Amino acid sequence: MPRIPGFKSETQRERFFEGASLYVRGGPLARTCGARLRTGRTCTQLALAGEARCLRHGGPDAARRFRERQKVGLETESVSPDEWARAEAKRARNALTWAWRKDPRLPGRTIDLGPDEAAFATSAADMGVDVDGLYPAVADWLRWRWRRHQKDRPDAARWARGVQEELPRQQAAADAAVAWVDLGITDRRTKAARAAKAALRAGGVDGARAAVEALRAASGVPVDVNMRKGLDSPAEPLTPLPVRPWTARPGSEGWKRRDADRKKAPKVQPGPPKPIGRPRRVPDTPDELAALGEVLRAVGPQVQAMHEAIPRQEDRLRFLRDLAEYANAPDDAGALRRWLGWVNRFR
Ligand SMILES: [Zn+2]
Repeated sequence: MPRIPGFKSETQRERFFEGASLYVRGGPLARTCGARLRTGRTCTQLALAGEARCLRHGGPDAARRFRERQKVGLETESVSPDEWARAEAKRARNALTWAWRKDPRLPGRTIDLGPDEAAFATSAADMGVDVDGLYPAVADWLRWRWRRHQKDRPDAARWARGVQEELPRQQAAADAAVAWVDLGITDRRTKAARAAKAALRAGGVDGARAAVEALRAASGVPVDVNMRKGLDSPAEPLTPLPVRPWTARPGSEGWKRRDADRKKAPKVQPGPPKPIGRPRRVPDTPDELAALGEVLRAVGPQVQAMHEAIPRQEDRLRFLRDLAEYANAPDDAGALRRWLGWVNRFR
């Protein structure tokens, strides 16, 4: 009997591949992604070949490996040049939108309104917005809004709301991102970043810059601060790939969305987030406990009742810390989210 490498017999080999065929991509038992979605359901996409999750949920490393495999496919002609070009353009576009979150001044656009650009500019000017004065990222966001509410499915009220209410929010977020870039802070979890955050809240970029400089001078080690970054021209090319902006196809109606919006699934109310890292082992100072007690006494009976209802001591402490943090900085998004987590739990 001939030896089959890795198998005891031909029968065993056959049975093995018969059983395995159920689980390969395309088979009835192929692995699905299974990532938990914000809607509370799980992702039903097939997992990428050789990965645990789909392209959307696999994370950057899986996406990088997927691109490498696609590249090999291009060389062996199992992936067409057109498919490769489309995928590369999409990746470039994603890279740009991610980079915009860090620096909204980077040039580029993800939507090209073509001949309608003038109509868009006029429409924005009527609402008192100078499109050329916006950061490229914010202007791009506004173009998508215009397409949605003026072209795709005209709704004057939604467009007005977008410009009057949402645009200032977008701009404030962009201004904050620019301030971070100007401070040269890349990692926001460090001491310098926290000092800068407090200073930014108290009084603008100059104060924050002074705080960061003082901290650098005191520590003597430039931990995460790179003052040159952001001061260089942001015009250097972001990726070697061209970003192909979305554009209406000439000849056709072009504006694709025709069906009514599907109703959004209700959001899952998050509980209080789990603390990151190991629990604190250092005993809490009497100072901190006294301060937390002070905070608890200052709040109303409703919050005190919430505190009483928490069974575990360490959870109570966490509750008090989140409460104090929120009381000290009501406009801090993270503190607000943590506090709302507790409120949701007791509703
Ligand atoms: Zn998925």
